Amino acid sequence: MGASGGIVRGVFPADNARHSSASYEIAAADQIRLRKEIADAGYTLWGIYHSHPGGVPWPSQVDITQAYYRDLFYVIVSCGPGKPAVGVFRIVNGQVSARPVRILPEA
Ligand SMILES: [Zn+2]
Repeated sequence: MGASGGIVRGVFPADNARHSSASYEIAAADQIRLRKEIADAGYTLWGIYHSHPGGVPWPSQVDITQAYYRDLFYVIVSCGPGKPAVGVFRIVNGQVSARPVRILPEA
């Protein structure tokens, strides 16, 4: 996810290199490509998103263990059960802190 002025303005998708529904990984080549695409768009790398298709929008133990970027936000989109939900977190040294989310109308 790319941002400017503290607002997420671009979403840059990547394939899950693990091809798993239990964890995710962005391949090194995709990470390089995404960082370039985000910079070329004039944004800074703000966060990493993934989904929990059947779960809650809260980091799993795997998410916490693999949260290597203390300066980024981790966004989790839950698609069920119930209505979709979004959680935003900082994860530092295994500690999760939820952050407020405000969804703005598309400019
Ligand atoms: Zn997760």
